[in-house]
Amino acid sequence: MTQHFDVAVLGAGAAGMMAAGVAGQRGQKVVLLDHAKKLAEKIRISGGGRCNFTNLGTTPGQFLSQNAHFCKSALARYTPQDFLGLIRRYGIGWHEKHRGQLFCDESSQQIIDLLRSECDAGNVKWMMPCEVAAIHQAGADRFQLDTNAGAVSARRLIIATGGLSIPPIGATDFGYRIAKQFGHRIVPTRPGLVPLTFAAAEWAPFVSLAGVALPVKVTALNEKGRDRHSFDEDLLFTHRGLSGPAMLQISSYWQPGSLLRIDLVPGRSIQEALIAAKSDSRQLFANCLREWLPQRLAAGWLEANPSMASLAGSRIAETSDKVLRQFAESLHRWQVMPAGTEGFKKAEVTVGGVDTRDLQQQTLESTRVPGLHFVGEVVDVTGWLGGYNFQWAWASGYAAGMAVSA
Ligand SMILES: Cc1cc2nc3c(=O)[nH]c(=O)nc-3n(C[C@H](O)[C@H](O)[C@H](O)COP(=O)(O)OP(=O)(O)OC[C@H]3O[C@@H](n4cnc5c(N)ncnc54)[C@H](O)[C@@H]3O)c2cc1C
Repeated sequence: MTQHFDVAVLGAGAAGMMAAGVAGQRGQKVVLLDHAKKLAEKIRISGGGRCNFTNLGTTPGQFLSQNAHFCKSALARYTPQDFLGLIRRYGIGWHEKHRGQLFCDESSQQIIDLLRSECDAGNVKWMMPCEVAAIHQAGADRFQLDTNAGAVSARRLIIATGGLSIPPIGATDFGYRIAKQFGHRIVPTRPGLVPLTFAAAEWAPFVSLAGVALPVKVTALNEKGRDRHSFDEDLLFTHRGLSGPAMLQISSYWQPGSLLRIDLVPGRSIQEALIAAKSDSRQLFANCLREWLPQRLAAGWLEANPSMASLAGSRIAETSDKVLRQFAESLHRWQVMPAGTEGFKKAEVTVGGVDTRDLQQQTLESTRVPGLHFVGEVVDVTGWLGGYNFQWAWASGYAAGMAVSA
């Protein structure tokens, strides 16, 4: 027997629960389906277990997409303050950590409970865990979902199956496959907000620096060597490569085969400082470096760069300006070529996805198949690190939830 609904939402993550709750509370008969055994695992593990649920400084500029303007409409109609209103209504304690990033004081489970309550307030029917084998159009204005719990039919279908990262907690490519089935174009997908790795031989000199962290400016260069995008964030040396917020952020802009330039001492001129030190210092070069770099990096940097290893025992005053300039350059313009990324098993997000050219900005509705919507991470809209991805999930889910109940 087929169960009939006004709206079916596939994927009970951040965007899907938001869309289902909004549509249900506006009088629609909504069903929310998910194949996972546990609800919203990605929210649970987010923000180190405290969910960085939004960013007060959200603007369209913090999102990657083939169409940079696409996210504007939804983000303008559901803002960080709107989500904060919900957080306050549920009495959830929160704090601002860094640059507008808002986290729960206690646990990300509170966000899951909030969204579940919003769905319950809209009498949303849960079908979970539930496998959806196929989706097709049933007549002119209905979709039919063939599930292991029987057939489900709905006037409107919202696809909220998220991206490809962390497959063990439920990520699949189902949303992309459904999009293709209905004639949508897909922007090629790749891992984003992910640590970058290096060839073992190239990284060997830096392995001893694992654990060193410092603020840097990192710039992704394009294939012509021109600056593509920069971030001022913290960098972390690891056994396999580079991580920390700086690398996660730049990874979303990095293209395989292209270089990254890293300024290890941003905001000051090491060349000037060295030349000044030369006139009144009898210091050894290696000792002087400790003023500007974490101690282990100061000690390890010269060893890791064979062309400069001989400087370690030299006195600054006895070093030529040319060599000082070259050394300063090595710190301000360190160029590295990552071999790859840690992949979807470690990525926080998927860059690319359902092409926004086939979606309406205001409603996230397909321009090809009326009644079909795509929301959240499955769409080619990817936020920076810092709560932007959830803000996109809330805003796009809200836009579709409103549209299906208009
Ligand atoms: C480790 C980690 C930490 C993160 N921390 C943050 C953070 O602090 N702040 C932030 O803004 N973003 C964070 N993110 C990103 C954020 O979690 C996602 O961008 C967001 O969850 C996307 O919401 P969504 O609803 O589109 O997808 P999801 O929340 O991933 O939900 C998709 C749902 O669809 C279901 N699904 C998938 N395939 C099928 C199928 N075939 N059939 C049925 N159901 C299916 C899944 O089970 C899942 O429940 C983090 C991501 C990771 C991996």
